[in-house]
Amino acid sequence: MTSRPKVVICGAGIAGVAAAYSLMTTFGVEDITVVDQGHPLSLTSDKSTEAYRNWWPGPDWEMTAFMDRSLDLIEDIARATNNRINLNRRGYVFATADSSKIDFLQTMSKTAEARGAGAARFHDTANSVYMPSPEHGFNFELTGADIITDRSLIRRHFPYLSPETVALAHVRRAGWFSAQQLGAAMYETVRARGATVARGEVIGFRMRANRVDTVDVAMSNGRRSFDATHVVLAGGPFQNKLTSLLDVALPITAERHRKVSFQDTLSAMPRSAPMMIWLDEQYLPFSDDERAAMADDPEFAHFLGKFPAGVHGRPDGAYAALVLFNHHGDAVEPTFPLPEEPHYAEIALRGMATMVPALRVYNGRPSRPYVDGGYYMRTRENRPLIGPSGPEGVFVSCAYSGFGIMASAAAGELVASHLMEAPLPRYAPAFLPSRYQDPRYCSALDAWGDGGQL
Ligand SMILES: Cc1cc2nc3c(=O)[nH]c(=O)nc-3n(C[C@H](O)[C@H](O)[C@H](O)COP(=O)(O)OP(=O)(O)OC[C@H]3O[C@@H](n4cnc5c(N)ncnc54)[C@H](O)[C@@H]3O)c2cc1C
Repeated sequence: MTSRPKVVICGAGIAGVAAAYSLMTTFGVEDITVVDQGHPLSLTSDKSTEAYRNWWPGPDWEMTAFMDRSLDLIEDIARATNNRINLNRRGYVFATADSSKIDFLQTMSKTAEARGAGAARFHDTANSVYMPSPEHGFNFELTGADIITDRSLIRRHFPYLSPETVALAHVRRAGWFSAQQLGAAMYETVRARGATVARGEVIGFRMRANRVDTVDVAMSNGRRSFDATHVVLAGGPFQNKLTSLLDVALPITAERHRKVSFQDTLSAMPRSAPMMIWLDEQYLPFSDDERAAMADDPEFAHFLGKFPAGVHGRPDGAYAALVLFNHHGDAVEPTFPLPEEPHYAEIALRGMATMVPALRVYNGRPSRPYVDGGYYMRTRENRPLIGPSGPEGVFVSCAYSGFGIMASAAAGELVASHLMEAPLPRYAPAFLPSRYQDPRYCSALDAWGDGGQL
């Protein structure tokens, strides 16, 4: 380790900004340049649902520990800033109208408990004691999940959910916060500590004795070179393009995900609701007349088919609400602006109305719907890539899929710890790019499923 590292961070999304923040605030690094071809925090990191959870019932404990660490750090920022980031802890509610999924919910909750996410508590009678989560603030100790299978208890505490709901899991170390404010708080700190921000596209790296030495950037006023002892590559959807400049290929693909926000002028989604996720496949709720009208129209015929599980949404501030209804799985080439998906808002709203029937008041057409989105950059097992990769001095921080906001604080800390050769947390090996060189790891992946993606 050189005594005075000169770090160039390529990409000023939440991953790059969080890396700069940790390098400066935890390790006292002074010489940092953050390069981005656009405005900081404006490509993917301002499009998220801003939600978080420590509930990762996967094959082992690493994702839970990583997220718990990140949430500890995010809570520290909330405390230090008088909760400028508006962190709440309302939880996630995973619900179903399918009684055959009760076993699944119970197994997930016990698995999450075994992974360290907190206890699974079961409520199968009307008088079972269930404690609601607070609407505001994050000072609430309950972790784990409450699994409610008594329908009267569900109606009492979640009267806005479909009356068909037969079971739900309320995950407690979960909620949402302002991703914009979290990013801004970290960004302002690194600016105040003297980080340089350069607007331009990273177009090349130069080496000296197989160690990165210079970063070349195309700026509006010409090409500029930045000396570097270390670089962090945090290019979000352009990470493959960035690493290809170093002949490094990373096993990540892009999935397009959209969301719709709208003015919930009729308060169909209660302002105090948690994040809500519907676990069932569904046919969109249309009247018989609407179905008959659409059946012969090729533009709308697909509205009548079966839609996948996973529509989710939440209230947003005083009037707005967000809904996401995405079909997962297709790897695409990231392009901007996102191609339009006709009728996305209507499909998402109709789908969410299956879970929250009061949304039917909009007939799928709420006031001022706004659709945006971006790309989930993901590895096969839906875990990030954090650590050294390629030539000496090069580190990657990427593949944050649908969890990059919640993971940002621990991700920044982890990549900074690698770079500074500091002691690493026990979960660090799980996120190393080099993990794929282990054939046992690769064959174990076959049994892992989708990694808990939303
Ligand atoms: C619809 C949607 C909902 C989501 N919901 C959630 C959620 O609820 N909770 C959650 O935690 N996460 C969520 N996410 C995921 C989260 O938004 C991302 O994981 C995170 O924003 C990724 O951050 P990033 O810094 O890696 O990428 P980005 O924010 O895309 O930043 C990458 C930056 O690198 C720059 N760059 C790339 N190449 C170059 C180059 N050659 N030169 C200069 N600059 C370059 C880009 O301009 C960009 O600014 C969601 C994502 C989407 C799309």
